Amino acid sequence: MQRRSITIIGGGFSGSMLAVQLARLAGQPFQCDVHLVEPRPAPGPGLAYTARRSEYLLNVPAKALSAFPEEPDHFQNWLRVTGADQDCQAGFCTRQSYGRYLQQLVGQVLEWPSMNGMNCQWHNSSAQSVEPNPDGPGAVVRLRNGQLIRSDLVVLALGNFPPAVPTPLPHDYLSHRGYHGSPWASGALSGIKPTDDVLLLGSGLTAVDVLLGLRADGHQGRLTVASQHGRWPAAAVPGAPSYPSFWATELAGLSSVGAVLQVVRQHVAAAQAQGLPWQPVLDSLRPDLPRIWAGWPLAEQSRFLRHLAGIWSVLRHRSPPGNAEIIGQLLASGRVQQLRGRAREIVSTDDDLLVTVSRAGHPDQQLTAQHVITCTGPLLDYRRIQEPLVVQLREAGQLVPDPLGLGMLTDADGALLDASSQASDILFTIGPSRRPAYFESTAVPELRAQAVTLARLLGQRLRQLEGAEV
Ligand SMILES: Cc1cc2nc3c(=O)[nH]c(=O)nc-3n(C[C@H](O)[C@H](O)[C@H](O)COP(=O)(O)OP(=O)(O)OC[C@H]3O[C@@H](n4cnc5c(N)ncnc54)[C@H](O)[C@@H]3O)c2cc1C
Repeated sequence: MQRRSITIIGGGFSGSMLAVQLARLAGQPFQCDVHLVEPRPAPGPGLAYTARRSEYLLNVPAKALSAFPEEPDHFQNWLRVTGADQDCQAGFCTRQSYGRYLQQLVGQVLEWPSMNGMNCQWHNSSAQSVEPNPDGPGAVVRLRNGQLIRSDLVVLALGNFPPAVPTPLPHDYLSHRGYHGSPWASGALSGIKPTDDVLLLGSGLTAVDVLLGLRADGHQGRLTVASQHGRWPAAAVPGAPSYPSFWATELAGLSSVGAVLQVVRQHVAAAQAQGLPWQPVLDSLRPDLPRIWAGWPLAEQSRFLRHLAGIWSVLRHRSPPGNAEIIGQLLASGRVQQLRGRAREIVSTDDDLLVTVSRAGHPDQQLTAQHVITCTGPLLDYRRIQEPLVVQLREAGQLVPDPLGLGMLTDADGALLDASSQASDILFTIGPSRRPAYFESTAVPELRAQAVTLARLLGQRLRQLEGAEV
């Protein structure tokens, strides 16, 4: 019998944990090779957990971050056994520790043949195209190093892309040494001198990281943060009691943003009347967010993105309490100045960048800085992503961006929908690219569950392919 093959493109959390879950599938042995394609120096950490800076913390406590949904203590046990818990502050550990954890988990799968017969190998390159197999079913994945991988099934686990360019054309400033378009790139802050003036665009978790990084580097220059809503991520409340779900009784069937908001507000008020913070009320919505999102027609989803997504993001994606406290101090002491509005134009001069910030109903504001750092969050609008693989699949009509710019169109299992809404038998995706289906498809709890269900589905597909061959 011919060996089957699955190619996973992208070896961050999503792709690596999919490989780990494939290796854990039970049942009759598989005759299958799993190819994990990742250009970084090691698979596992991906974009989020690569940065080697001790002040970059995970935004939820370690107890919520096991790689395995059915083994909730797994990460905490790993921290204890390896001694990496020394790096944690009040239950919040460093992202670099988490990267090492993931690297070790996927490393075991790469080093040892799995009990179920799957053989996983890492290709330290990037995928440039996925094309139909000219010699039969399946596809051929072409790597940047020239290698071709014949694949029965292909999974796109491409993750988060650097933030969108912040202004309309012209974009001459993109090549200026003081413009930092990718705050997560290695050494992103290294060219900033202690006395340089720095402008951050955006006030979410990335801006928090950048400010903590600059503070740790002894930065003394002027720090300004421009954002449309002017809010900062709320502080996490570890140990807050849970709040009961009210989806089935009050939210099911609500098809407008306004109706859902009204019910949620009532519950926040009820919680406050009982002396509870608002955070557990929002957290209780989390398992039901895909159903709430799917219950809204496109126009309502668009309304939510226009009016509430910015606020939702700072309420839902919280800072470790210690980080929130430092940001509060930086603001209160005037060390960090805030501007409301969005960058409309950036003009580069020899040493500086001149930025115009606009806000509806207010006069434009201009300021000069030696460095501008885009902290507006990952770009997931697949209409605009210029990665060669994404461009090739988009032009071939195999990857269809959603109309709201959140990710790719998929069916409920993560199979890509083509231009005629036909689900692919070959191409699947996992990770933030699935936001159009769920809205929240970003954090570890959602992604580890996707890895389990997608691994099972791919296992079934392999069995079907093997059955068809007998
Ligand atoms: C800075 C940051 C911090 C975060 N912190 C947290 C946190 O504390 N807690 C939490 O729950 N979530 C956090 N997240 C959310 C994050 O989305 C997930 O936790 C998770 O890391 C996503 O993993 P991923 O594999 O889908 O994406 P990524 O980590 O982006 O990995 C995708 C990988 O695909 C590779 N790739 C891309 N294109 C190709 C190609 N053509 N060929 C081959 N490989 C390719 C990239 O090199 C990359 O390594 C954070 C996100 C960011 C950006």
